[in-house]
Amino acid sequence: MKTVACDSVSYFFDKASAPQMSCESGDTVRFECRDCYNNQLEYDGFDFSKMDMRLNNPITGPLYVNGAQPGDVLRVEIAAIDMGDSGSMCVRLGSGVYEVQGCHCRRFDVKNGLIHFDNGIKIPVRPMVGVMGTAPAGAPQSTQTPGEHGGNMDIKDLGEGAVLYLPVEAEGALLSMGDIHALQGDGETAICALEMAGIVTVRVTVLKDRGDIPTPFVVTPTHYLVTASSPSLDECSVSAARKMHRFLTAHAPLSDAQAAMALSLLGDLRISQVVNPQKGCLMAVPRGILGDCFEV
Ligand code: CA
Ligand code: CA
Repeated sequence: MKTVACDSVSYFFDKASAPQMSCESGDTVRFECRDCYNNQLEYDGFDFSKMDMRLNNPITGPLYVNGAQPGDVLRVEIAAIDMGDSGSMCVRLGSGVYEVQGCHCRRFDVKNGLIHFDNGIKIPVRPMVGVMGTAPAGAPQSTQTPGEHGGNMDIKDLGEGAVLYLPVEAEGALLSMGDIHALQGDGETAICALEMAGIVTVRVTVLKDRGDIPTPFVVTPTHYLVTASSPSLDECSVSAARKMHRFLTAHAPLSDAQAAMALSLLGDLRISQVVNPQKGCLMAVPRGILGDCFEV
């Protein structure tokens, strides 16, 4: 299996980035990923002042997928997330939503699927990929932010078995990723999750003539999810809900009004994260009940 190494990383989704590797549609490829601190936080109690913030949020890639043309959709199925045996967190005043005093950089062990937190607390992991995206047609996008290209979405549902649909806006799609989390709650409220280095295995497929897919779009074994981002939660919550409404009216046997009612009954409007330059909301709808309206 091909492996995209993380010897060199980048900090932008950029159509001018030189591909690190190429593959065919339908191939399975591994991405080696550094953690979001670029593996700088090497030990528990690390001195934050030694951290070079310019190195944070590295991505591995891009991968050039042969045959992907602007206007296509790239289907990215997360086959596996393999992580190291410990991860990092850093909380401090002025980052995240909490008025925590001081700056605290920590490492926690991960053994047998459990995070060994403080005071004997053990928390089950739910591995996910925080940053995944394609190169946008326009200006390069920082790996700090989510957007129409994907990017720093921090959607906790992007774990093993999830499928992410991304727009193709540059030749080859130029897929990159990073920012593995062992676990993250909705909101990512302290600005970090349990940040892990590891390997993400994905199967990539180029889809033609699928302008009906509201990218970035996520299908998990249980749910359909659309996402929208904006500096304003008010705006991205409405955008996410309306995107799902459009999706349902196009794909489910529901009228405009019926789709609105069904969403009010079944749709969960969620916050993905509130700590990136653009905040993110999700609209999640369980699969099956409204007819399995979308071929995954
Ligand atoms: Ca992130
Ligand atoms: Ca992160």
